[in-house]
Order: sequence, then C-alpha cells, then structure tokens
Amino acid sequence: MNGVLVVMEQRAGTWNRMSFEALAAGQQLAAKLGTVCSAAVIGIGDNVTALAAELTNKNLAKIIAVQHTLLSQYTADGYTAALEQAVKQADPAYVLFPHTYQVRDFAPALATRFNSVLISDVIAIHDGPIFVRQLLQGKLNADYKHTASGPCFVSVQAGTFRADTLKSGTAAVEPFAPTLDPAQIRSKPGEPFRESAHTVDLSAAPVIVSVGRGIGEQDNIPVIQELASALGAELAASRPICDNGWLPMERQVGSSGQTVSPRLYLAVGISGAIQHLVGMKGSKTVIAINKDENAPIFEVADYGVVGDLFEIVPALTKAVLAAKA
Ligand SMILES: Cc1cc2nc3c(=O)[nH]c(=O)nc-3n(C[C@H](O)[C@H](O)[C@H](O)COP(=O)(O)OP(=O)(O)OC[C@H]3O[C@@H](n4cnc5c(N)ncnc54)[C@H](O)[C@@H]3O)c2cc1C
Repeated sequence: MNGVLVVMEQRAGTWNRMSFEALAAGQQLAAKLGTVCSAAVIGIGDNVTALAAELTNKNLAKIIAVQHTLLSQYTADGYTAALEQAVKQADPAYVLFPHTYQVRDFAPALATRFNSVLISDVIAIHDGPIFVRQLLQGKLNADYKHTASGPCFVSVQAGTFRADTLKSGTAAVEPFAPTLDPAQIRSKPGEPFRESAHTVDLSAAPVIVSVGRGIGEQDNIPVIQELASALGAELAASRPICDNGWLPMERQVGSSGQTVSPRLYLAVGISGAIQHLVGMKGSKTVIAINKDENAPIFEVADYGVVGDLFEIVPALTKAVLAAKA
C-alpha cells in the first residue's frame, strides 16, 4: 500500500470547491508520511477529461480519471462500485474526501467494502497520523488512529485546510475504466440537491452575509437581504433566527447548522457563541458588525465595525451598489 488518494468532487464539469481543501489535506498528509499524493476524478466525458487536465500542474503522483457512462450522474451504487475498483488498483494507504453531502452518502459504503469505516468530518490531522473529529456538537475533540489493515477512509471538514496552500508540480492523467453493470445501480437520480427548490448548500458559497439576533425582528431581515444581494452573497443566519422561523433552517451556520468557509463572511448582529464560531471559523476573511465592542465575534474577525447595524448596513449596501454602478 502506498500514498494518499484524494477523491475530488465535481458535478456537470464544475468542481466542488471543498475538493481543493481535501487535496491540500492530502498533500500535507503525504508530506508528513514521506509519501506521494494522487487525485481521482469521477464521471464521464469531456467534463471529466477537462477537470483532470486542470490538476496536471499540481504536485501529485498521478490523476486517476475514473470514467464510465453509468457515472454520468451521481448514484451511491455507481460511485461506490467504481471507486472500490479504482482504490483496489491504486492501493493507497489513505483515501481522503471533502466532507460534502455526496461524500456522506456513498463514502461509508465504500469504506465498508474494505471492512473499514469512514473517519468523517475531520477538523485536524496530527502526526501519527491522528485524525481529530468533534463530538457532542463541538464540546469535545476526539482523536482517531487507523489500526486495521487496508486503506483508511477520511473526510475533511470545510475550512480545515486551505486550498491556497496547494503545492504546484506536474502530474499525468491515468484513465481508469471500471466494470459496471446497470443492474448494480439500484437508484434513479432525481433533481440534484443544489438545484432543488428549497435547499441551499452554503458550504460552496464564496461570499456569505449572516444575520443574528441583533436584527431584532423578522420584518427587518430585508435590510440584510439587500446587502447580500448587492454583494452577490448567500444569506445565512445564527440559530435563533432560524429557530424563530425568520429564515429557513437550511440557512443556519454553526455546530447544528452548516459549516462554511467562504472567502468573505460578514457577521451582522451576531454575538459569536462557540456553536456559531465552529461553523464559520474556516472563513478566509471575517467582517463583524456589532454594537457591543466586547462581543466574542470580534476575536475571530479580521475587520470589526462597532456600531448599530441599522445605520451601518444600509450605508454599506448603498456604497456597494454605488461602487458597482
Ligand atoms: C447544542 C447547541 C447547538 C447550537 N447550535 C448553534 C448553531 O448551529 N448556530 C448558532 O448560531 N448558534 C447555535 N447555538 C446557539 C448559540 O449558543 C447562541 O445562542 C447563538 O449563536 C446566538 O445567536 P446570536 O449571536 O444571533 O444572538 P445573541 O447572542 O443574542 O447576539 C446578538 C448580538 O447582536 C448584537 N446587536 C444587538 N442589536 C444590535 C444592533 N442594532 N446593531 C449591531 N449589533 C447588535 C448584540 O450586541 C449581540 O452581540 C447552539 C446552542 C446549543 C446549546
């Protein structure tokens, strides 16, 4: 067994951004172990060929392009069967994934094929390697070490590793054609998650404007929505906003909501409770607007504005719109 294999995620020729964080994790794990890192891209057609080619300037041993017509759309059965064969051939010691909804769906089944488990939602990798996961909604960190024979399967939480730390190099694409039979695929793909009417995957949003209890009441939410629209950002919220039904639950960020790692996270009227921070601390730049200068959110903010959101946010929206005009 050798090396680290990172299974990248794409849909219709578009990367899931978290794949590059997992790739950075893979490179760093390989460096720790004194071994090599490879990547796998899965699907069919020109999309996959083009995406695999995009990785040839990265420091990778190889890029495995796993292609089959039965992989044109994601199914747990198809991905599990195809990756089982690809992993057996590549024989890596560690298989890493981004901790996406799709990975949560198929990776435990894939690990089971190797009599193993998925060490999911890892927030740090220490020497050993030791994989750190959070338990009890972030109250405890637990260390996991792989002791069984066979590959170790790990998914990496958004924001844990930075995609901008990826090391460059040169790598060749190696095609891999799994043997798949239509009878193996028991499910028929429906509408993809991201496109469905009432759901939002905040983990892929590059800019997020997040609103907290400082907004006072539901009728004031448009003040924040207008700023989000001006910035082309997704609207998110702290838990009380969603608990009150002022915004849908799927927009909640935090230990019992989504984990996000946008380029910019604007926290408006959010105090910065630990349960909120664990969901957004991977953001590249954090701007906080809060009238309390001692609010804990300022401890993780790169830029802090102490003041009344009802004065600052409309002025900011106006300035953004003026700058874009
Ligand atoms: C098991 C568990 C899980 C949890 N999961 C989550 C989770 O996933 N996500 C989450 O967010 N929380 C979660 N919480 C709740 C968390 O503990 C906090 O209660 C919550 O994050 C607080 O939300 P908030 O910051 O919006 O509200 P508050 O703590 O009430 O803060 C409001 C802030 O707005 C500021 N403010 C008020 N008026 C203005 C104004 N006019 N202008 C500017 N600033 C103003 C105040 O100074 C204050 O800092 C969880 C709690 C538990 C126990």
